[in-house]
Amino acid sequence: MCVCKKRHLRSWTQTRSHDHIAASEVVHQDTFAELWGSLTGGPSRSPIVVGEETWTAEFNALAEGFDEKLFEIGGTPGASFCSSASSVLETCDHPGNHDFTLRFQKSGTAKSVTSTYSESLNKLYCQLAKTSPVEVLVSKEPPLGSVLRATAVYKKTEHVAEVVRRCPHHQNEDVVAHRSHLIRIEGSQLVRYYEDARTNRHSVTVPYEPPQLGAERTTILLSFMCNSSCMGGMNRRPIRTILTLETPEGVVLGRRSFEVRVCACPGRDRKTEEGNQDKAQTDVKQPKKRKSVPVVPPLKRTKSASSDEDDKVFTLQVKGRERFQMLKKINDGLELLDKEKKNKPKDPVPSSGKRLLVKGEKSETE
Ligand SMILES: [Zn+2]
Repeated sequence: MCVCKKRHLRSWTQTRSHDHIAASEVVHQDTFAELWGSLTGGPSRSPIVVGEETWTAEFNALAEGFDEKLFEIGGTPGASFCSSASSVLETCDHPGNHDFTLRFQKSGTAKSVTSTYSESLNKLYCQLAKTSPVEVLVSKEPPLGSVLRATAVYKKTEHVAEVVRRCPHHQNEDVVAHRSHLIRIEGSQLVRYYEDARTNRHSVTVPYEPPQLGAERTTILLSFMCNSSCMGGMNRRPIRTILTLETPEGVVLGRRSFEVRVCACPGRDRKTEEGNQDKAQTDVKQPKKRKSVPVVPPLKRTKSASSDEDDKVFTLQVKGRERFQMLKKINDGLELLDKEKKNKPKDPVPSSGKRLLVKGEKSETE
């Protein structure tokens, strides 16, 4: 198949450069899809074989822009073509018509845990060569013979074109044919390892199996065969794993991706990184709070202080939910004070009112 692809790729390139197409040439859809993808980044849809004349006609149409409907002949609606042969792989989530979803077991962050998933970071932490069960959910069964494909890609733009492979050290230690592959799928005799002839990208597939009786999901077992820190391999560069659900013809029905860190202490690292994320979030929020506090209390005070208009209702437009909530809190507090004032006229109310002001002044100086 790969040889076939290559041949057509070559022939297409040749004929294109001579601006004519030999009568014997037939351009397969996958070849075309790749070429189109590499030219424009645009998607292609359904399986199609284009002969000489149609091809020429459609190529003219392409000059003005790609009409996806041209190629929608008997394809699966909502399916997108497998882009595994393109040099940059798509990682965005695409549940598709089958609502393709992944779920990870809740393993927590204990020291002993060998694989754990962070919901908030969409990141899997696991130890080298340890099993990470991934649950696959679909809303309706995909066509018979569909497969699940796992591919690893580098997360950062500057590394994204590079193929993720195992480090020389771990490769040399191993004897299996697919020893250069980072990702393995365990627990099935029907696992297949691929190396794309054009991009050299590695991927591994396992036939999709419907959930066993009484279960709502299928589980696949992934394992990662290098540490993220492996020299000459990932070399501390973060990676993502892309899981796709594909028809036997290679049409992608759904795609999900998540970040992966392979390390000695998955629990600890997850805890640390989630902590850093929380910190980053609160750091962003806090300065805003402080800024918006000082301005307001005096305003409110003067308003409520004005004698005649105490019962009149004023509307204040506030920009930003955070500030609104803060003002609302202050207002609620004042309301409460008013209530207390009415209930117990002897109570020394001003003291708590003062505290409110002090708060504002304090933060003003910060
Ligand atoms: Zn390694």
